[in-house]
Amino acid sequence: MNKSVVLVVEDDLAIRNLICTTLEIHHYDYLVAKNGETALMMATSHNPNAILLDLGLPDIDGVQIIKKIRSWSNTPIIVISARSNDLDKIEALDFGADDYLTKPFSVDELLARLRVALRRTHSDKIESSIFINGDLKIDYAAGCVYIAQTEIHLTPMEYKLICILSNNVGKVLTHTFITKAIWGTSYDTDIASLRVFMATLRKKIEKDTAQPQYIQTHVGVGYRMLKI
Ligand code: CA
Repeated sequence: MNKSVVLVVEDDLAIRNLICTTLEIHHYDYLVAKNGETALMMATSHNPNAILLDLGLPDIDGVQIIKKIRSWSNTPIIVISARSNDLDKIEALDFGADDYLTKPFSVDELLARLRVALRRTHSDKIESSIFINGDLKIDYAAGCVYIAQTEIHLTPMEYKLICILSNNVGKVLTHTFITKAIWGTSYDTDIASLRVFMATLRKKIEKDTAQPQYIQTHVGVGYRMLKI
């Protein structure tokens, strides 16, 4: 039995029904909000384990909802957006959404994203100066990184990058988020540099850089460290 409570925020009846039926079949508890105002009220009063948030709501802009929720809660938020609204999606991630689904999405996709998001909050609770993910180990206190118990030597920039990704494991981070965290700016040149550092980092940690195991690329959006 799955005891996670998911808040479904969606004004479109057909999509809402699809999501709710899927959640019900997979034994999630869920709450429904058809607009932004109800969503904010329910997020505050029920403190759900995850939120599925449609960005195009009749009353409040989805991004504003994320900003408000993030001012007091770290609950995973998965945004649901139309394919044409790439910029909205990126803005939502920059304001603290965890992940996104693009309409039309499959039920399997929805469940997979939800599992990842719920796992992230679980791992957040284990506070440690050692990060372990599959064969990857990061000792934050010593500033050392290991793959299968062998220390690998990273440049300061690669180390910074792997720490940003590991601190947000399971979460899609936009190019803007990462470059701001590293350089404090987000110019096109920073994003180009990010690609270079990502390539050198991957060479050191991935067995096969063509099929990365740890760091997933989201084309046009950013990167995510997968929880293995
Ligand atoms: Ca909508």
